[in-house]
Amino acid sequence: MKKSVFLVFLIVVFFASCGEKTPDFDIIILNGTIYDGSGAASFQADLGIKGDRIISIGDLKSNSSTQTIDANGLIVSPGFIDMHTHLEPILEMPLGESLVRQGVTLALGGPDGGSPWPFGPFLDSLDQIGLGVNVAYLVGHNTIRKEVMQLDDREPSAEELKLMESYIEQAMKEGAFGISTGLKYLPGTFSKVDEVISLSKIASQYDGIYTSHLREEGLGLLEAVQEAIMISREASIPVVLTHHKAIGVKMWGASSITLAMVDSARNLGLDIMMDQYPYAASHTGISVLIPSWAMEGGEFSNRVTNPSLRDSIKEGIIFNILNDRGGKDLKRIQFSRVEWDSTLEGKTLHDWLVREGEEPSIENGAEFVIQAQLNGGTGTIYHAMDERDVERIMQHPMTMIGSDGRLSQPGDGHPHPRAYGTFPRVLGYYVGEKKIITLADAIHKMTGLSAKRLGLDDRGIIKEGAIADITIFDADQIMDKSTFTDPHQYPTGIAFVLINGKIAVENGTYKAIPAGKVIRKGLKE
Ligand SMILES: [Zn+2]
Repeated sequence: MKKSVFLVFLIVVFFASCGEKTPDFDIIILNGTIYDGSGAASFQADLGIKGDRIISIGDLKSNSSTQTIDANGLIVSPGFIDMHTHLEPILEMPLGESLVRQGVTLALGGPDGGSPWPFGPFLDSLDQIGLGVNVAYLVGHNTIRKEVMQLDDREPSAEELKLMESYIEQAMKEGAFGISTGLKYLPGTFSKVDEVISLSKIASQYDGIYTSHLREEGLGLLEAVQEAIMISREASIPVVLTHHKAIGVKMWGASSITLAMVDSARNLGLDIMMDQYPYAASHTGISVLIPSWAMEGGEFSNRVTNPSLRDSIKEGIIFNILNDRGGKDLKRIQFSRVEWDSTLEGKTLHDWLVREGEEPSIENGAEFVIQAQLNGGTGTIYHAMDERDVERIMQHPMTMIGSDGRLSQPGDGHPHPRAYGTFPRVLGYYVGEKKIITLADAIHKMTGLSAKRLGLDDRGIIKEGAIADITIFDADQIMDKSTFTDPHQYPTGIAFVLINGKIAVENGTYKAIPAGKVIRKGLKE
């Protein structure tokens, strides 16, 4: 009896499913204004998506689908690619909400010379945790130098160099997109250019790129750009001058020179590009104000107890406040993350001195920088760029967008607003309000240009067969809301975000789904 009931049930199910026509698509996006990411002008069309791919572009109004998105009056763009992302907290924030809600569908981690290590096993572990956004990684020079030589201020022995080269090779085989350096930071700052060339040659053999946080971005910027160009030439490797900028009052305007250097290198056949975040303030540690020799070997706290060393350290800090990232004004130095005193977060170095009843002189400021470093350092925002440089760099055809933002969530520190606002800010402020670049160019700089740099031909572009990483936004509404004083604000105007064909933002509502994956260069996804 039971058996026959089950048989009838099966027959009913069989005929019911025969009667039901399978929809043509999983998702149809109707009536959108499409920018395909190539920089070309927009066109009106519908997109048909099946699984994780765009399979049809055209008039699909008579087709059927499981789900329909009406994009009437909205811009349909490839999902944004973040060329410089601090993914370090990804294990705590695997869904990457601060990225997805900006329309980012792929983020490149491992910048500034710092990457996970061991590389392959870390990527494998990310496969298991349910990512909300696609991620790709560079392998970091500082990371492997520290593995091999700790924080030593010297050149590597032949053996050590060989070991570092083998680490780069290993990471490239495990899917790294290239090598990153942070030649301003420890221990990268101790390396000579030959070492970087040797390691970049390995990355180049695997079609990797070299992204450089330059040795200097203030005084010394031009020499640092020259060094990066030389590395490109000697190692035959494409170079990205990451978060390109000119910092410190004395260097304002210098982007016209650096961009001319890039153009002339490109004219000689070298492949040099930039990425940039759309703010006139940078973010890094307080230690960037301290001369690097003072930090060598982790001996800073010992050196400052020696009075004569302390004097020259202080002199170096005063110099940097006056001429470099300090921007000549303690009010331009703002704390973002202070683990030893969270009440300082959002306050400036000037505020801190006043609070302690000290005269806010540059000299006293230098003393407090030493104190802050001894306490464990701080995340710090430096308001020390000129808006004209930001605009000029953005207008360059070889500049891509990279947030340099750290994965963030409300209640967690006081991040640079770029963590929440980079992509909407380019579109809302620099395209919509300031009209510095066109919408087609801006989208190209955050999609097609970046995908091409990474060697990805089925992302960053809307075409039949491409992966359905798609961001749909309202060009009149899109805007960043995160500010330096109130950073934990999500942007407006992002209507839909599709990642690998899954809807991660729907009608402006964030869905918190694990739609992302790890993308390994040259390896099957
Ligand atoms: Zn950097």
